[in-house]
Amino acid sequence: MPNTPLHILEHTFGYHSFRGQQGDVVDHLCAGGDALVLMPTGGGKSLCYQIPALVRTGCGVVVSPLIALMQDQVEALQELGIPAAFLNSTLDANAAREVERAFVAGELKLLYVAPERLTTIRFQSLLRQAHLALFAIDEAHCVSQWGHDFRPEYLALSVLADDFPQVPRIALTATADHATREEMITRLRLQGAQQYISSFDRPNLRYSIVEKKTARDQLLSFIRREHERDSGIVYCLSRKKVEDTTAWLRSKEIRALPYHAGLDADIRAKNQQIFLREEGVVMVATIAFGMGINKPDVRFVAHLDMPKSIENYYQETGRAGRDGLPANAWLAYGLNDVMLLAQMIEQSGSSDEQKRIERQKLDAMLGLVEGTACRRQTLLAYFGETTTACGNCDNCLHPPKLVEMSAAAQKALSCVYRTGNRFGVGQLVDVLRGKTTPKVKEHLHDKITTFGIGKDVDEASWRAIFRQLLVRGALQLSPDGHGGLQLTDAARPYLKGETPLYLRERTEKFNYHDKDSDF
Ligand code: ADP
Repeated sequence: MPNTPLHILEHTFGYHSFRGQQGDVVDHLCAGGDALVLMPTGGGKSLCYQIPALVRTGCGVVVSPLIALMQDQVEALQELGIPAAFLNSTLDANAAREVERAFVAGELKLLYVAPERLTTIRFQSLLRQAHLALFAIDEAHCVSQWGHDFRPEYLALSVLADDFPQVPRIALTATADHATREEMITRLRLQGAQQYISSFDRPNLRYSIVEKKTARDQLLSFIRREHERDSGIVYCLSRKKVEDTTAWLRSKEIRALPYHAGLDADIRAKNQQIFLREEGVVMVATIAFGMGINKPDVRFVAHLDMPKSIENYYQETGRAGRDGLPANAWLAYGLNDVMLLAQMIEQSGSSDEQKRIERQKLDAMLGLVEGTACRRQTLLAYFGETTTACGNCDNCLHPPKLVEMSAAAQKALSCVYRTGNRFGVGQLVDVLRGKTTPKVKEHLHDKITTFGIGKDVDEASWRAIFRQLLVRGALQLSPDGHGGLQLTDAARPYLKGETPLYLRERTEKFNYHDKDSDF
């Protein structure tokens, strides 16, 4: 039987042709080269190493961080008649020994292992006894601190380059920004690897990002307007909000189900099954939901809270429209989201370096939501791709009008300064608008020069101004984690009137109270 990639693609996997760069990657690996593959989720990364493992002699060793995905992959391969197995903590000692024996005896073509196991002395000795076709490092961005899912175990994978220089290595990921890519290459010693970078564009997705007013009403009208009886996912930041939103949607006769890590495993599994099998179910979930979910006809992904980075946003919205048919990515954001995410970073207990990275990512996400340029262009630019405006996102379809707010920005910044660089947005807006609340009186803020100088600007616009100044780095959160704002050096050109500040013009005026923006 011929053992060519194309023959295996057709006869073992039942596909007629390679997709995108799959064929090139496969040929390169079969010939013994190393590769770095950046391909969006659903792009078909698995075949890039599965076929070379079948073409080459020996067993392909696949490093994978997710036990559930490992199991699914191995089951799928076994059903195709491919001798595959996994080694992870779910196996008892006897079962693990049997897999190890089969591996060394050359009975396996693919072996999936968790990264922490691969670098144990025991497994290293097995690797030396076995005949190896290749190493595949899946979810390779886990080696990067800049990536959204850093796993220290991945760092040890650099030994593969030294210990098995003759075995080809392929690293794969769907996370592709430039910083992550550079870190992967260095840390996995892939300097000599051929890079295969697919476009991350998802042309069938329409991106729309709206400002929160009463978020759940906005969500409901979005679903009723565009997605009556469609399958969709609604992401929320907290478990409580998942529960509340599910109940609210159900009270409005939308078939919603909850999914979060606090639910019993069997309820989670049941809800997931219903979502996968039936049509028209809206899954309201925390980000615990979605990894490895491959439902092609999800027509929308809605975010009721802003994701903490563009990578997260891209991954989560990417679960819509896998079938290539039009789908919506809808996000409602508010200043509270930004504050909450910023506080989560400050209180995370991460290193200063890590916090700095997280803040930069949050800034980039804010730049996207507040931006006036094409959403797709902004999104793809983050992944290093240059494109023309898409003509299909909210900003392209309804270009926002701009209003100059430079004078207001000066007032906002001097108010931060006059109140001592420590108050949050609520207090600052009260002072600017001249409200004599108990807290204003307590701090004698009705006696300072900025009291009441901003009555002409409504509260919502003040909040947008503070948000923009935060995005642009003229303001930062004070390190105590209480949400107070401070001036930075970057505030100077705004204060002097050298740098203008433009905002999107609002079509509707609304009063943006903290309590209304969340429920
Ligand atoms: P990724 O790991 O990049 O998210 P997968 O490897 O899981 O993607 O592939 C996604 C889906 O696309 C799978 O259902 C897979 O069977 C299918 N697929 C992959 N390559 C091809 C191909 N050449 N032709 C048809 N379907 C493919």
